Amino acid sequence: MTARLAPAALLVIAAAIAAAYLGAPPIAAALGAVAGIAAILVALGGHGEAEPSAPAGPAAADDLSGAVVDAIAEPVMIVAGGRIAHANQGARTLLGAHIVGEDVRLAIRHPAAAESLSRATPPDPSEIIALTGIGARDARWVMRVSPLAGARQLIHLIDRTGSHAAEKMRVDFVANASHELRTPLAAILGFVETLGDDKAGGDATTRKRFLKVMQDEAQRMQRLVDDLMSLSRIEAEKHRAPDTPVDLATLIAETHNVILANGGARAKDVRIALQGESPAIAGDRAQLSQLLHNLVGNAMKYGQAGTPVTVRLARDGESMVRLSVSDEGEGIAPEHLPRLTERFYRVEASRSRALGGTGLGLAIVKHIVERHRGRLDIASVQGQGTTISILLPVTPEPLSSKSHGNVTQGV
Ligand code: ADP
Repeated sequence: MTARLAPAALLVIAAAIAAAYLGAPPIAAALGAVAGIAAILVALGGHGEAEPSAPAGPAAADDLSGAVVDAIAEPVMIVAGGRIAHANQGARTLLGAHIVGEDVRLAIRHPAAAESLSRATPPDPSEIIALTGIGARDARWVMRVSPLAGARQLIHLIDRTGSHAAEKMRVDFVANASHELRTPLAAILGFVETLGDDKAGGDATTRKRFLKVMQDEAQRMQRLVDDLMSLSRIEAEKHRAPDTPVDLATLIAETHNVILANGGARAKDVRIALQGESPAIAGDRAQLSQLLHNLVGNAMKYGQAGTPVTVRLARDGESMVRLSVSDEGEGIAPEHLPRLTERFYRVEASRSRALGGTGLGLAIVKHIVERHRGRLDIASVQGQGTTISILLPVTPEPLSSKSHGNVTQGV
């Protein structure tokens, strides 16, 4: 059986494929794809410039239309006389196996869909009909209706839930980042204004006090900007797997030395526990160092003063290495655990800010772990403490063992 596609249909399909490959906006690509599917079906239905000798009759064309629709993963239906004549697997999974033969408005059961499908003139294929809540409460779909041969219609439901969530995340992120920057900026501007006043600015003690607050607020902004830049750099590289051999034991020892050199009340509480041979991993040294500083920094901040912060490194089965940081602090209530790696999510915002936190530390850790094809695990018992573990894949060839600086073995 042969069915030739009209040149116009081929053009539309080519445009759809080009749009998908050239990174056109998802809606444009989806529109192209729907137009492409409809064009194939119109051509198969005999309305294109079919080869004169082509034997494909209406029944054969129907078979082919069904086969094309079945080959598409997203929900697609062919409607004839207002009823569903054919529904692919995606449509049957979403709307129920019973929909074939049903009135399309009852099958989709959405006011916006029913309204557009009840119009005297069918919707234009370029019209975006947004449907919320089909299949799941938060689900977002776009419905497109394209005319087919024989007064039939092709209905295509495009899942926009993921891109909608991503867009919301982006908008929330910009709003949160602006808010986080605005607070210290407002404080700095306020103090600059006060210092500009001869009375307040003339007094040396007041000036010194105000300048100290301004310095603290400026440093807070700097930490925030540094973390935002780290996050965007890590995200930009997320599809490029790191490939430099990294000896984690040496990296832990270096991090420990930096923490000791920086001083600070909690530096002396950090213990290192290495178990067995130092496993080699393919990693990004700078990012793994940042990960360690963030985790140990949190354990020092949120752990009880004077209690140990323990960094452990051990093999986990044949192919993984487990790096964990434990503290003896108040712990985290279970309802917070799934959200801790969200940007700007804090259990107690005022405490985090007072301790110099940006709310981005664990989000950075999560992205670094993802880039290293690893796994992040947070375990916490309220009143006892928290352990954050990172599982990373080990490279097959172990690195030769190196000196580990002032590492204490077997804590
Ligand atoms: P922050 O800069 O606020 O520390 P993070 O992203 O590093 O931001 O952590 C997010 C939140 O998770 C923190 O504000 C804190 O509430 C909680 N948290 C992180 N690590 C620990 C820990 N070791 N113990 C208790 N709470 C923690």
